[in-house]
Amino acid sequence: MEQRGGVAGPGLTGGANVSETAGPSKPLTDGFGRRISYVRLSVTDRCDLRCRYCMGETMAFVPRDEVLHFEEIVELVDLFIARGVTRVRLTGGEPLVRRSIEVLAKELGARIGRGLDELTMTTNGTQLARFAPALFEAGIRRVNVSLDSRDAQRFRHITRRGDLDQVLAGIKAAATAGLRIKINMVALKGLNETEIAPMLRWCASEGHDLTLIETMPLGDVQEDRTEHYLPLSDVRARLEHEFRLVPSPARTGGPARYFEVEGHGVRLGFITPLTHNFCDDCNRIRVAATGTVYGCLGHDQKVELRELLRSGGTDAVTDALDRLLDGKPRRHHFRIGEARPAVARHMSVTGG
Ligand code: SAM
Repeated sequence: MEQRGGVAGPGLTGGANVSETAGPSKPLTDGFGRRISYVRLSVTDRCDLRCRYCMGETMAFVPRDEVLHFEEIVELVDLFIARGVTRVRLTGGEPLVRRSIEVLAKELGARIGRGLDELTMTTNGTQLARFAPALFEAGIRRVNVSLDSRDAQRFRHITRRGDLDQVLAGIKAAATAGLRIKINMVALKGLNETEIAPMLRWCASEGHDLTLIETMPLGDVQEDRTEHYLPLSDVRARLEHEFRLVPSPARTGGPARYFEVEGHGVRLGFITPLTHNFCDDCNRIRVAATGTVYGCLGHDQKVELRELLRSGGTDAVTDALDRLLDGKPRRHHFRIGEARPAVARHMSVTGG
């Protein structure tokens, strides 16, 4: 387990499994009666890519001593489990660039079947070839891999530095390790829109599900997002010329709405924060790598848990979570084309 100084060391000493040691606690429920059962947990705000819609070319990352230690993350997850959270997704930044991430995955994976139903990860795939077997061993069974283009040049352009072959090798390694893969593709007008149908065919041939995402106005990316915004209502209409999309009741805990792609054996998801709001049944909160917890991707409403975890004790953390839930906004109000992003922080900070 990573030590407080950030160095990989022997085992976890703190972080007792609260779900086992404490009695049942009040479920996390917000002011609108929505039960929170899903936590997106960012383990770092750092990333080895700089996707144009996500980050600026130059980014300032938080100092390492402001990032939660593994022991603190585990303690927090145990508190979440005790309050009814059943799914945790590790994200970032890029979760696989956090040193010794496999150790954290194993520690959290040990909670599966003991309060946690599922541990998953969202990754850009650059480090998957190295980590896939360890993730599987930790109990992870599904990963979302972001892949906006299968054209090497375009991939490099969108990510500002990525190597497509490295990501494709990572995806292959993940499949070989036994991980089910969902490809996440942000639909970008004039950048990858002609690749959407081919991406769906490729996913079908590889046995991966595909989820398309509308670009959200989060953080300053030093370019105009409006230029590349592509409403998924248009994309769906175009795809329906070629594929029969049958609405599916399937849900994976997140905001995507799914369709079975008839005759192809895969699912196509749409995440439509702009064209179709999905906040009514929001079941999520997001923990940034620093221990700041956000009630909504599109608002600044938050509580700071790091110092409470370091000195305040369980009750203080629990009270802070209740405050967060009381004030969790009803919905986000993303609008493309407004002069300023909906919130100043980047998706990589909140945890995608
Ligand atoms: N590094 C990991 C990855 O690339 O998947 C995890 C973090 S990344 C922030 C999570 C997801 O958010 C990715 O699928 C990425 O494409 C998406 N994303 C980032 N910024 C976005 C934005 N402004 N609008 C829509 N999706 C965004």
